[in-house]
Amino acid sequence: MDNNSVLILISVVALFLVLMLGMFGFLIYRLLKHQNQNNLSLSLPAEVDKSKLHPDVLERIKTVEKFRIKKTDLFCPVHPDEPGETNCAICDKLYCKTCIRPFKSLYFCKEHLPLVMRNDWEEVVTIKTSTIDPEHGVRLFDIKKVLLERDNLPTYVETHYKINLEQDHIETYLVLFGIKENLVTLKEKLEKI
Ligand SMILES: [Zn+2]
Ligand SMILES: [Zn+2]
Repeated sequence: MDNNSVLILISVVALFLVLMLGMFGFLIYRLLKHQNQNNLSLSLPAEVDKSKLHPDVLERIKTVEKFRIKKTDLFCPVHPDEPGETNCAICDKLYCKTCIRPFKSLYFCKEHLPLVMRNDWEEVVTIKTSTIDPEHGVRLFDIKKVLLERDNLPTYVETHYKINLEQDHIETYLVLFGIKENLVTLKEKLEKI
């Protein structure tokens, strides 16, 4: 083998090594970048166009986003340093001690307490629940949320207990209350939900 061939061989090997190193480096970079993305956020990368996703996938994303606990959900919306203590019976938001007041058997935030005090409230619907079948009760709270957020109709739920002497057990009733003037509208909406 002459000197030239040795030189060419060394060059080829060196070039090959450089290429391998480059690829290896690129792979490590990709891996780290991917890990960082995973650690930093649970949401969709910005480059994903949501409008191009399948409706089922979008629905799934919405559900996940709804259940993700945000820091702000655990702290009072008025005092971000104070942990929330009690939910307002109308808006269900968690407020700190100074922002929530007891009234009747429930608690209301500063926005909704005047609304409760200034209006006459009447029973819209009563649902009997049991620990065996809690689905009914859960559904009532879902409906309450829809009525407030979609239709701007505030309601609150009171829990009533009745002792059934004959069958020797306690019956639980959930009573949905609405403002007297809204009663007809509320009943109409309930039929459609
Ligand atoms: Zn409220
Ligand atoms: Zn507060």
